[in-house]
Amino acid sequence: KSGFVALIGRPNVGKSTLMNKFLGQKLAIMSEKPQTTRNKINGVLTGENYQVIFLDTPGIHKPKHKLGEYMVQVAYNALKEVDLILFLVEATEQEVGTGDRYILEQLQEIKTPVILVINKIDLVQKDAILPLIDAYTARKQFAEVVPVSAITGANLQALLDNILKYL
Ligand code: GDP
Ligand code: MG
Repeated sequence: KSGFVALIGRPNVGKSTLMNKFLGQKLAIMSEKPQTTRNKINGVLTGENYQVIFLDTPGIHKPKHKLGEYMVQVAYNALKEVDLILFLVEATEQEVGTGDRYILEQLQEIKTPVILVINKIDLVQKDAILPLIDAYTARKQFAEVVPVSAITGANLQALLDNILKYL
């Protein structure tokens, strides 16, 4: 099994931390060179019978200027071509904020399956995320909803198992 997985979400939700935790030492393959392709490959997770290619998809936030609009368009087109999207949000959120509502709007037109990843569960009580899950799933149908902690590694194996279902 092999496929492309895009990570999206507001700044600071933990996209880099999640990828680092998955890739561990393999992060060394990360390129420091500016990428000319429209998707920046952040790392490849290789197992015995799978390969997950993680992509950073910058610019899927609300554009502030013309160049920003172009970047959003580029990121948007990239999302149509990947096998799976991981949409990260924070467990500590009380409601779906404007930044996340904007991302959800962008996702409405895209047929690529999306896994809602509720990150930073180490910061909240177990049941505290239930209203948040309700709020998100009321706005969009997700392929899966997986709570994790990128920092502690909690539930990351379950996330990987879910990712592999869609590759
Ligand atoms: P990005 O902007 O989405 O790439 O977010 P980063 O990976 O840079 O993380 C932003 C901040 O959130 C950093 O200070 C991380 O240490 C912290 N962070 C990321 N994941 C977790 C988590 O699961 N739990 C906690 N408590 N903090 C986290
Ligand atoms: Mg980052």
